[in-house]
Amino acid sequence: MPVTTPAAPEAVSSPDTAMPQDFGALLRQDPEIAGVLLAEAGRQANTLQLIAAENFTSPAVLAALGSPLANKYAEGYPGARHHGGCEQADEAERIAVRRAMALFGAEHANVQPHSGSSAVLAAYAALLRPGDTVLAMGLPYGGHLTHGAPGNFSGRWFEFVGYGVDPDSGLIDYAQVRALARARSPKAIVCGSISYPRHPDYERFRDIADEVGAYLIADAAHPMGLIAGGAAPSPVPYADVVCATTHKVLRGPRGGMILCGVELAERIDRAVFPFTQGGAQMHTVAAKAVAFGEAETPAFALYAHQVVAHARVLAAGLEAEGFDITTDGTDTHIVVADPGPLGVDGRTARERLVAAGMVLDTCALPYGDARGIRLGTAAVTTQGMDEADMARIAVLFGAAVRDDDPERLRTEVRELAERNPPYPG
Ligand SMILES: *Cc1c(COP(=O)(O)O)cnc(C)c1O
Repeated sequence: MPVTTPAAPEAVSSPDTAMPQDFGALLRQDPEIAGVLLAEAGRQANTLQLIAAENFTSPAVLAALGSPLANKYAEGYPGARHHGGCEQADEAERIAVRRAMALFGAEHANVQPHSGSSAVLAAYAALLRPGDTVLAMGLPYGGHLTHGAPGNFSGRWFEFVGYGVDPDSGLIDYAQVRALARARSPKAIVCGSISYPRHPDYERFRDIADEVGAYLIADAAHPMGLIAGGAAPSPVPYADVVCATTHKVLRGPRGGMILCGVELAERIDRAVFPFTQGGAQMHTVAAKAVAFGEAETPAFALYAHQVVAHARVLAAGLEAEGFDITTDGTDTHIVVADPGPLGVDGRTARERLVAAGMVLDTCALPYGDARGIRLGTAAVTTQGMDEADMARIAVLFGAAVRDDDPERLRTEVRELAERNPPYPG
């Protein structure tokens, strides 16, 4: 069957579907999937990406992801592979590891985990045995699936105990963490969350872990980019193991990483390969190296600080619109808002916001059963928005949640997005 001429070529050159890569070959060969990718590029460019875990990687990161290193098998570690022809794969991984260690001041880095969850799985595999007790933030307060969800390996294979937050302040209740640690003698304590908008007090967690002889695992999947840019405190001096993703504020490819001291290095490496993973995705490892290189620059430090400043402006704006803001603000890229005072629950709020082109998640609130909304400023900051734009977004949020004129809102959101294309040109 002859390949039909794709219907979308004029869209390729239109500014709202700018593709950061050479797309011509895919468009000619497979217009069906190319159409999907173009539509997704358009969606990302025409709406506001406020999902706290998302960002826009650079064209350089995308170029590494789309490179022939995607073809290479490289089980093992540099200099000790199970496959031939790994010279360039080794070089890419050595560069990624060197840059990660320098960026975060760590003694050892493993850049092979396929995702944040894979990194956490490997950390548990390195330090724990099935049935061990682990103390982590409870899921209703912002714990991740890998922190003991019943449907996740963590909840199935380990005995998780959840700590919470003070219901009034929304802040971690360290007295409770200490009491639970004393009562339950966990083998590991996990700090880090998907929706806590403040920094964990790593030093305090270290103290508690030392008191009960537990390992301290920091799951810094969310703030790792802020840490890289000096806009958040680092868990590296305190935690035995730091797990992270590379695709959230850090703005690299989808993937995970683990940092630790030299004494745990070998255990961590074996827990990643061969215990929980096979061949590393070397194109992703190369893309992680590119992202670490970008994160070392003064421009990235400025970015990280702007992300936090923008989240604070958004939080203040949402408060003025009548939302309740958990912990009364944020120190990170994350804002958690309860739309309850506007007479709307979290799910309805999300539906209305997404319908208006403002894409975000619902999340657990630290009190009661109602859900709130969680938003993040990493992506909109990457695309060049400023504090005035954040203040405007807060007003648009209020209008969308109150269901004022969705058509007009959608147009205004689209104009705001198109003024700040994620991939200009
Ligand atoms: C995002 C996240 C993860 C998991 O990352 P994936 O790449 O989605 O597997 C783990 N822990 C925390 C705290 C996270 O925020």
